[in-house]
Amino acid sequence: MRICFDMDGTIANLYGVEGWLDNLIAEDVRPYREAKVLLNMNSLARKLNKLQKQGHEIVIISWLSKCGSENYNEAVAEVKKAWLKKHLGSVRFDEVNIVKYGTPKSLFCKSSDDVLFDDEKPNRDNWLGSAYDVQNILEVLATL
Ligand SMILES: [Mg+2]
Repeated sequence: MRICFDMDGTIANLYGVEGWLDNLIAEDVRPYREAKVLLNMNSLARKLNKLQKQGHEIVIISWLSKCGSENYNEAVAEVKKAWLKKHLGSVRFDEVNIVKYGTPKSLFCKSSDDVLFDDEKPNRDNWLGSAYDVQNILEVLATL
């Protein structure tokens, strides 16, 4: 199965960075860079590596900023990849999809077995497989 993760509000606390919205509007990448983790990354990395060894794919599906210019979008994509490297450096993701704001996440769902973790309800509702909110990610992963 594919085990897919949103970033902002799911594993990265973008919305907890002071001034995040003003910074995004001003096309400053700082909030993406400085976002704290929302769960224990050592535990998450260990679990993801184990699931990947069992044959599952580990996938990121993250939207760019709502109204960013092309240059800003490119910078945001780089910073998001750097964030993953910094906080989940031991995980070799099968796919890191940093896509335009509003891209249906269900486009990345290939089977009804696929799992999504995402803080936004519409994304979970449109997902064809199982979709979970951000509470108890580690506990849910333990059941896969
Ligand atoms: Mg999100």
